[in-house]
Amino acid sequence: MRSVKFQTKLTIVYLALFLVVQGIIILAFYTSVTRNVGEQVQDQLSASARVFERIIDERISDLGGRAQDLASDFGFRQAVGTGDVATISSALRNLSGRIGADLAFVYDSDNTIISVDQNGANSGATPSLPDSLRETAEQEGVAQTIVEFNGQIYELVVVPVRAPLPVAWIALGIELDRVAALEIKGLSPIDLEVAFLFEDEGRYKLASSTSERDRLSQFVTGEMHADMGAVFRKKFRGEEFMFWRLSLVEQSPDTREIAALVYFSLDKALQPYMALAITLSGILFVSLLMLVGGSVVISRGVTRPLRRLARATKQIATGQYREVHAPGSDDEISDLTSSFNQMVDAVKEREERIVFQSYHDSETGLSNRNFFEKELEEAVDLKEKFVVAVVEVQQLAELRSVLNHNHVNELLKGIGKRIETIVGSPVARVSTESFCFILGDIAGVSVVPSLIVNSFLTPFSVSDITIDASVKIGLAHFPDDSRDPAKLMQHVNSALDTARSSAKGVASYVADNSEAFKSRLSMMSDLREALGTGEVTFAYQPKYDLAAGKISSVEALVRWNSATRGFVPPDDFIPFAERTGDIRHLTEWGLKEAVSQCAKWKKKGLDLTVALNLSTSDLMNQNLPGQVLALLNEYSLSAANLKLEVTESAVMHDMNRALDVLNMLSAMGMELSIDDYGTGYSSLSYLKKLPVNELKIDKSFVLKLAHNEEDRILVRSTIELGHNLGLKITAEGVEDEVSLKMLRDYGCDTLQGYFISRPLPAADLEVFLKEAKFDWA
Ligand code: C2E
Ligand code: CA
Ligand code: CA
Repeated sequence: MRSVKFQTKLTIVYLALFLVVQGIIILAFYTSVTRNVGEQVQDQLSASARVFERIIDERISDLGGRAQDLASDFGFRQAVGTGDVATISSALRNLSGRIGADLAFVYDSDNTIISVDQNGANSGATPSLPDSLRETAEQEGVAQTIVEFNGQIYELVVVPVRAPLPVAWIALGIELDRVAALEIKGLSPIDLEVAFLFEDEGRYKLASSTSERDRLSQFVTGEMHADMGAVFRKKFRGEEFMFWRLSLVEQSPDTREIAALVYFSLDKALQPYMALAITLSGILFVSLLMLVGGSVVISRGVTRPLRRLARATKQIATGQYREVHAPGSDDEISDLTSSFNQMVDAVKEREERIVFQSYHDSETGLSNRNFFEKELEEAVDLKEKFVVAVVEVQQLAELRSVLNHNHVNELLKGIGKRIETIVGSPVARVSTESFCFILGDIAGVSVVPSLIVNSFLTPFSVSDITIDASVKIGLAHFPDDSRDPAKLMQHVNSALDTARSSAKGVASYVADNSEAFKSRLSMMSDLREALGTGEVTFAYQPKYDLAAGKISSVEALVRWNSATRGFVPPDDFIPFAERTGDIRHLTEWGLKEAVSQCAKWKKKGLDLTVALNLSTSDLMNQNLPGQVLALLNEYSLSAANLKLEVTESAVMHDMNRALDVLNMLSAMGMELSIDDYGTGYSSLSYLKKLPVNELKIDKSFVLKLAHNEEDRILVRSTIELGHNLGLKITAEGVEDEVSLKMLRDYGCDTLQGYFISRPLPAADLEVFLKEAKFDWA
């Protein structure tokens, strides 16, 4: 659903507010006008009622006077006295004709009518005078009242005819008819209506009225009743009227109510206000139009800059950072616009930072692999010859364990800078330990890499620490090696692989190398198979214990006699198996083989400790201690029957994890040796942290011991230091008696080497152990 535009909303809100306010005004106006008019009408009606009462009084006392005049007329009294009806009637007619009375009776003392003059159609029934009226007349000379007679209302006066006692009564009546009503109406300043009514059996009946006889008669009979109060409002012929009921004769047990009714249309009273109301509505309508127009203009003023902002926001979403021109005014909109612009700047800056981060290495600030891949793609697009180079730092794993994080970063920065200085262009850090760059100058390819390698002969100095580092470099050529960036990266890494084992430390990609790589991969699958077929066996090299004067342990060394490949030396497949992860299978096999062989020897009474070589990934395997323990249990051997050899670099790779595994093994009672001691990053201080029992001095220091003074110093000091740390020392690579004797003199604990024995198959070892005479000892 499309949402309502702000502009429309604003207009609607304005409109609603306006209507509410106007509604309140109109309501107030209406109620005050109607209240006023009501009060006015009521005042008028009450004034009219007072006038009315006065008129009635006047008419009635005038009538009373006339009746008294007649009653005291001598001739009339004589006619009454003599019963001269003709004279009585003539006098009565004469009087009623003169004063316009509607009723004229003369009663004798028995209340019998002597003479009648009924003006109009009301002949027939004649009223009899109530005693009370006659008594009042007798006492006060005149009695007056209002009566209903034959559906008409009359003002009636009664006077006695005295001789001197009352002998007859004259009653004169004037009807309160339409004329009387009109007369009263004429005296009122407003155009009210007047009617006369009387009560008959609980209902009112109309006697006469100024107008609308029939409808009023219906209304009076149908809708009025005695307990409605003197003043009331009622709907009559579709208009609101205010009525005033003025009782002329109150209701009592023996009288029925007779009343006058004055009424006035409130609607009519309101009429003068109609013009005002129309003017007011007109004003209202015009201001409504102005309001709608005005709010549209205002809201446009508000929404135009907002729309501009919305457009700019959409553009930002598409990456176009554009500031919005702030309106000159000093209002919220311009505030919003300037904060919007600030936001645009901030977003732009942040995006730049994110882009920078995604293309840069946080540790060194150099560009990263992403950036380099982009650069490489661009270089490939240019289709000009170039060389991709990868430079790998060799000792980083070791350095990480002895230097703190900041120092390592400093070192990496220094390395990056040194390479950049030689290359003359930016270098990217593509992995933890390698840097990449592109050499566009093909001529430089022959010198730049060796310049880099040689530059590392100068050590680095990081916070006063002198650090030696070295690098290996792999190279791949575009377009000769490949035209595809991803392939080039693959080739450059395979070249690096070659460089790692080259003396120069630099190698270019050779198509064959990749073949060698493939063949080595297939070698791994062969190896996995060979582990189950018996092609892979152990040769056991004896270790001579100088103190005990006998062979108390052997080192298990793997031998692979492949049916297809012939004999494969361990150095040809173990480093590769370590990289592919296949070493896991070899270790599993080796553990089982060594433990079961050890158990067999034990059965034969041969008490030999078997030393097994472990690789880096074995030390990362937290399950290894459990596996070893399970095997020992299975063959009922103790941990002392097995010894594990690990290299420094394997431990340094991830010291904490390696320590976890080594500590568990040591806790199980297993002895641990540091193999190839002296080739890696040797530091006796870290040795203290390791749960090791033995150092094996690398054979490179032992082989030429007899001829090399430097080696002798090194071996001798290592033995002393090791002993000081409580470690046993084994020398491996003992090939001659001179070296052997030197080692014995230096206090070396164990000797291993071809001079004692080459590694032997298990059966041959048993023979060797039986026959060997250590006559040099
Ligand atoms: P390493 O652990 O340093 O093993 C000693 C190596 O020195 C063995 O080579 C051994 O034959 C050789 N050696 C012993 N005495 C002499 C001597 O007097 N003169 C000379 N020149 N060499 C001597 P090998 O058997 O070729 O093993 C090479 C490496 O392969 C071993 O070095 C070890 O790192 C690895 N390796 C062998 N077997 C296994 C294994 O089962 N597992 C693992 N992870 N590595 C193994
Ligand atoms: Ca070894
Ligand atoms: Ca060794």
